[in-house]
Amino acid sequence: MRVAVGGYQVSTNSFATQPMDLANFQQGTVRGDRVLSMGPGHSAIFGFLKGARERNWQVAPLHFIYPVMYGKVTREAHEWAKEELLAALRAAGRVDGVFMQLHGTAVAEHEEDCDGDLLAAIRDLVGKSTPVFASLDGHANVTPRMAENADMLIAVKTNPHSDFNAIGYRAAEVMAAMKDGSAKPCLVRAQPAMAPALQKLYIAPGWPMEHLVRLAQNERRRDARILDVSIPMGFFVSERRETGMSVLVTTNGEPGLAADVAEAMKEACWAKRHAFHTDMVSVDDAVAEAMDSDDGPVILGDLADSGGAGTPGDGTALLAALLKANAQGAVIGSISDPEAVESAFRAGIGSKLTLTVGAKIDRFHGDPVEISGRVQSLHSGIYTTGTAFISRTVDRGRIAIIDCGGVEVILTSKPVLVFEPNHFRSLGIDPAARRIVVCKAELQHRAGFAGIGKRFIDVDTPGLATQVLSRLPYTRIRRPVFPLDDI
Ligand SMILES: [Zn+2]
Repeated sequence: MRVAVGGYQVSTNSFATQPMDLANFQQGTVRGDRVLSMGPGHSAIFGFLKGARERNWQVAPLHFIYPVMYGKVTREAHEWAKEELLAALRAAGRVDGVFMQLHGTAVAEHEEDCDGDLLAAIRDLVGKSTPVFASLDGHANVTPRMAENADMLIAVKTNPHSDFNAIGYRAAEVMAAMKDGSAKPCLVRAQPAMAPALQKLYIAPGWPMEHLVRLAQNERRRDARILDVSIPMGFFVSERRETGMSVLVTTNGEPGLAADVAEAMKEACWAKRHAFHTDMVSVDDAVAEAMDSDDGPVILGDLADSGGAGTPGDGTALLAALLKANAQGAVIGSISDPEAVESAFRAGIGSKLTLTVGAKIDRFHGDPVEISGRVQSLHSGIYTTGTAFISRTVDRGRIAIIDCGGVEVILTSKPVLVFEPNHFRSLGIDPAARRIVVCKAELQHRAGFAGIGKRFIDVDTPGLATQVLSRLPYTRIRRPVFPLDDI
């Protein structure tokens, strides 16, 4: 048995103004044999390779394409990625199966369904009788074309996502059963008319998505013919016709059973739609509430400029409000501003300086803010996240921390998903000892700061990852769809 393994882990914020271009794609590509030694963090490939090794399969590595997320992918970048993957697949010769790790939310300027486009091209190349399997992120926007061109699509069942290894391993099990004739995967996709924002998609006790995942896993457990039930939750800032939640059911044969389970799960999702309504607090109210709190730290979430949703990471709304309120003991998790970082490096530790920071990439994330303070420390910026659900090494670029009279501002030269304590600790700041901590994340900070944050306030900041869908300029999404339409 010989299998080809690759990845196209590409996610797009369709509304963000910085394109994902060829250079971005090339910098984010792990080539050929190096795919075989990729670590376990966030990797379905790692789990699939474990399954492949246990069965002594030969593995033909393709490439793993994982660019930093911004706005729409350029035509050149997507076509390059597709051709690189196909060329490697052609060079691999005859294979008995293909496994691809996809994010499931790649949108290009000329193609709203890059994932389906890629799977269709792979299917064309290997033919109908060769298994094509793909893993998906929990936020995938799954299209009919994706489902038509794969034998199995399997998504993670956690959020924040911690089971990539497990779904890759499961895919190898099912592919093995397909090859030995004991399974004949039948994949059915269904979709409720809903595209929830990210804020309420936490999969933890008491949250609506946990209920749906449990229902899905109970369906799978009660009938051995059901190989997998996945509920990709959708990624509302990545726009294609099918943006939003969907259900994927894979059975062993039995198309009727797959369709029945998919329909039942679709109805269960639909019945829960109101539970995904967002609730946020205005910037001024959030700051006042945090400052009134006796017990810290209070964790403020800058949801609309999450470092995980393709926005510039330089939103300043909370920075401006906290400075204005003289919020002693507050730390701003990140403002991405390479220019300001370089100025601080030139000035040196201990120097006093005045800088204009943030909101330089576009006009959607607040206004540039003038700060005055002392350079507290300077850092190279590479660190390892310290949570059970995501452990990976992240390059934040060079970092400068400015102490603005009791408000610490962390300036980074790259956008950062600020969601967990090690980001701060690696910079000499103990977040547990601060009164107010500003994160840039959609919900990951709730898990990252569990046990540390005394209170969590999700703030209605301006930005292109706003959780208020009606503020985004959709043109392609199917209508009506909840919550854009009151159905
Ligand atoms: Zn995700």
